Amino acid sequence: MANLNIKSKKENSYDAIVIGSGISGGWAAKEFCEKGLNTLVLERGREVKHVKDYPTTNMMPWELEHRGGILQSVKEENPVVSRCYAYKEDTQHFFVKDTEHPYVQEKPFDWIRGYQTGGKSLLWARQVQRWSDFDFEGPARDGFAVDWPIRYKDLAPWYSHVEKFVGVSGNKDGKANLPDGEFLPPFELTAGEKYFKEFLKNNYPEREIVVARCAHITGNQDFYAKQGRTLCQNRTLCQRGCPFGGYFSSNSSTLPWAAQTGNLTMHHHAVVHSIIYDDEKGKATGVRVIDAQTKEMKEFYADIIFVNASALNTNLILLNSTSSRFPNGLGNDSGTLGKYVAFHNYRAGISAEYDGLKEYTTEGRRPTSGYFPRFRNLHKQETNFLRGYAAGFSSGRSTHSDYSGIGDELEQSMAKAPEYGPWRMGSHMMGETIPKEESQVSLDPTLKDEWGIPQLKISMDYDDNDEAMIKDYLEQMSEMFEAAGFTNIRTRDDKRAPGLDIHEMGGARMGKDPKTSVLNEWNQVHACPNVYVTDGACMTSTSTQNPSLTYMAFTARAVDHAVKNRG
Ligand SMILES: Cc1cc2nc3c(=O)[nH]c(=O)nc-3n(C[C@H](O)[C@H](O)[C@H](O)COP(=O)(O)OP(=O)(O)OC[C@H]3O[C@@H](n4cnc5c(N)ncnc54)[C@H](O)[C@@H]3O)c2cc1C
Ligand code: SF4
Repeated sequence: MANLNIKSKKENSYDAIVIGSGISGGWAAKEFCEKGLNTLVLERGREVKHVKDYPTTNMMPWELEHRGGILQSVKEENPVVSRCYAYKEDTQHFFVKDTEHPYVQEKPFDWIRGYQTGGKSLLWARQVQRWSDFDFEGPARDGFAVDWPIRYKDLAPWYSHVEKFVGVSGNKDGKANLPDGEFLPPFELTAGEKYFKEFLKNNYPEREIVVARCAHITGNQDFYAKQGRTLCQNRTLCQRGCPFGGYFSSNSSTLPWAAQTGNLTMHHHAVVHSIIYDDEKGKATGVRVIDAQTKEMKEFYADIIFVNASALNTNLILLNSTSSRFPNGLGNDSGTLGKYVAFHNYRAGISAEYDGLKEYTTEGRRPTSGYFPRFRNLHKQETNFLRGYAAGFSSGRSTHSDYSGIGDELEQSMAKAPEYGPWRMGSHMMGETIPKEESQVSLDPTLKDEWGIPQLKISMDYDDNDEAMIKDYLEQMSEMFEAAGFTNIRTRDDKRAPGLDIHEMGGARMGKDPKTSVLNEWNQVHACPNVYVTDGACMTSTSTQNPSLTYMAFTARAVDHAVKNRG
């Protein structure tokens, strides 16, 4: 019996275990496998193979049974996920249904998840702006949360490392608050966006519109061919999965790259229950996994464990990993695990028209938009709220065809060239929120999921800082829109619950002091250094920029550290 146990332990042992195969887990797998480590990736969802498992990718609108719409009955059964803008008939199979994976909303929170190979990397909007020292120095400067244990210079080479492999289209804009990266050729701003950019230059010199950096291949074709990817074709059907590999996903890029090293083992339907901590050895030795289909519990072992289950699920796993050394969750000596979670504030937006630039039109598609980097409270505190907001900015002209008449008359109407409408301008805010102790996730004491794992209880909300920021965004944008000669200006605050931004962060924050943080400057759990957390759970503050590029950079940096410091 003892021999059998030793044999099974040996068979289930790896150099590194990565929990989750999404954006950050895919990067951990790639880096470990390239460095020669025998790596196990545990993914709770089903297998989704690049191209083969994108069932709607080449479908025409009329081939979709409901022309892309979601049935009212599906919306009623799944009120949370159906509020996500990307949840449509052609993408719904990549989203978690509310009914299948319940959680407890102590305060309303729309938790959007993707449980499959690649996680949410299939679904994301591919916006990849670097963070700057205005972000990493924010908590120390403004006196909230705790100081980040790193600065931009620590992450800059890893941003470059990631960008080169991922393929990032962008323009070098030379802005300190939006550092430049390793860019492929940028997409173009429309005439409306260029007009507003020029207007800002002349009237608000501290403010600027740039073309948003996005993870799409727009050049260097031979390099990406090695990944089996090619140039983006501007189809903007990305969230169906892209057969060209034009945008970055774990499925098209990091996971196949890891697999071709021969060092990758991947288990699907493998729900990680908890991390095993060995009191005698004083370290984590492996993970407990429940087979999602058979419900059988198994154990896997490794010297290094990376937790990349996406921010809130990572909190769940750590909180559920109890032992006599860590009765309140792995590495929770500080009592901060699950606390100081935060999100991005996407509640407000503005739209308008512009009765000029009639000589210009917009044709075709573009998988990105204009981007308004943060301009509030950068060099000094100038408002009644902390931090600031970035904003999306886009403009275009719609066309109207004439379908009047029937028979010959209809034919003649349709033969006319479509008429262009006015320029439409639109923007949405992307506000930084402040992580607070009372914003937290915890394990529900009684409710369990289908696999016997406690359900996650989520409790976070907007505060006065967020309300003041929304007011300021709407005032500032209205003022600039009016001054630029835009008309028919409409503002909105859709009062959405937190979560729909899909940028939840924190709960296992990085920090210098183990008394007030869970992770150190290398993303290692202070009190259990062979466990690393490199997804959104590690984030000390939230910035205004989209976070996934930063998770990827942290992951590559942490793998490098783990491998160099392997015993
Ligand atoms: C519509 C949409 C638009 C977005 N746009 C952007 C954007 O433009 N820019 C940006 O930066 N971010 C964007 N995001 C967010 C981005 O997708 C996430 O930040 C990113 O995917 C997080 O990476 P991750 O590795 O932490 O988690 P994920 O990519 O979600 O992967 C986590 C993986 O872990 C698995 N898992 C979870 N629990 C367990 C468990 N217990 N055991 C085993 N496996 C588990 C999941 O099944 C999943 O595959 C967007 C998201 C969506 C849905
Ligand atoms: S826009 Fe580019 S990445 Fe998106 S589906 Fe089209 S080719 Fe693929």
